[in-house]
Amino acid sequence: MSVFKTTLIDCRQCGRRIMVRAADAERGSIVCSHLGCGAINTLSAGFQYDENIVRGLPAFGQLTYLGDSQLIYPLQFGRNVIGTSDLCTVQLDRFMHNGRCFISRRHSTLTVAFDKWTGQLRYHLQDGAIDNDGKTHQYSLNGTKLNATPLQKTEIVDVEDEGIVTLGGVDSFRLSHYVIPSAMLDTYKVELDFNPDRTQ
Ligand SMILES: [Zn+2]
Repeated sequence: MSVFKTTLIDCRQCGRRIMVRAADAERGSIVCSHLGCGAINTLSAGFQYDENIVRGLPAFGQLTYLGDSQLIYPLQFGRNVIGTSDLCTVQLDRFMHNGRCFISRRHSTLTVAFDKWTGQLRYHLQDGAIDNDGKTHQYSLNGTKLNATPLQKTEIVDVEDEGIVTLGGVDSFRLSHYVIPSAMLDTYKVELDFNPDRTQ
């Protein structure tokens, strides 16, 4: 049996600290005691997942070229710069269309992150990439689309499993998420403080 540790949370309405006791945790909610607030804060989260799980993963998802399903580009955890330059994390072939390639040297950025609440990987897509100097963000020449919708400059979008990313208006890729197996997830479950306990 675990021991309840009194926990402080931030009130969702006024942002001030509230002390959560065992009785509140059992009830599943707590009323903010700060003057003039009184918001009801739900104590829903019972657990999250330890992000060290990503160290043991065999893969982080991949992009498959729709013009040739043999062309598969694996992703790595963190930031993937995608383009034709050999300095990219994901170096694409120079796909030619009537003698032209529409993909920029550093075309898009696909960031693979771990969501500790769902225990799964998330994929964030942005047009362009941080320059090699690490300071300026350069956009692609011909743009990036997700499921046929162009991304605005500075926009960052979540890419779902099987989402279609189009670079330069011509070349499209299907994203395959890496799904973390539930048996592995179970071993990285972290119980949060406001869970069962009755000592205080
Ligand atoms: Zn409050």
